[in-house]
Amino acid sequence: MQLTNKRKHMARKPMTFLERIYLPAIVKGMGITLSHLFKKKATIQYPEQKRPMSEVFRGLHILKRDDQGAERCTACGLCALACPAEAITMTAAERKPQDKHLYREEKYAEVYEINMLRCIFCGLCEEACPKAAIFLQNDKMAPASYEREDFIFGKDRLVEPFLLKKS
Ligand code: SF4
Ligand code: SF4
Repeated sequence: MQLTNKRKHMARKPMTFLERIYLPAIVKGMGITLSHLFKKKATIQYPEQKRPMSEVFRGLHILKRDDQGAERCTACGLCALACPAEAITMTAAERKPQDKHLYREEKYAEVYEINMLRCIFCGLCEEACPKAAIFLQNDKMAPASYEREDFIFGKDRLVEPFLLKKS
């Protein structure tokens, strides 16, 4: 069944001699390639070279310590509640008397995990935190990996490293 009468018959134009030997097309292609050698490159040698991040870039999370080096997070769960991607999970535990120097509050996060494959780096967890415990860094991003498990960031990768103060 013919739906319209707009069909056009296109005549195939025979190739000229120059088109058949492909030489002009090869020369033209080489010219384009050579011209790119002298142009400013749009690519960089990542990860050796890095582009400056925007001031408002939100990257990898960090769980902060206080001035005494104790973890600020009290496992209140507000960040998990605020997270639109449901990327945060945690297990709370009660601090033991001998661990006072490790955790600032009586309740702390025994397990704290962020699934970076779910995270959309919106920063709502940072805004929701009443203890100023979680921040998104603007100079780091989650490293690439072929394994899905590598994107589950636990406390070993999220908690700020403990830096000893010089006396
Ligand atoms: S940045 Fe957004 S999506 Fe990622 S963990 Fe925080 S609240 Fe969830
Ligand atoms: S990071 Fe902040 S909001 Fe999230 S559980 Fe810890 S204290 Fe609560």
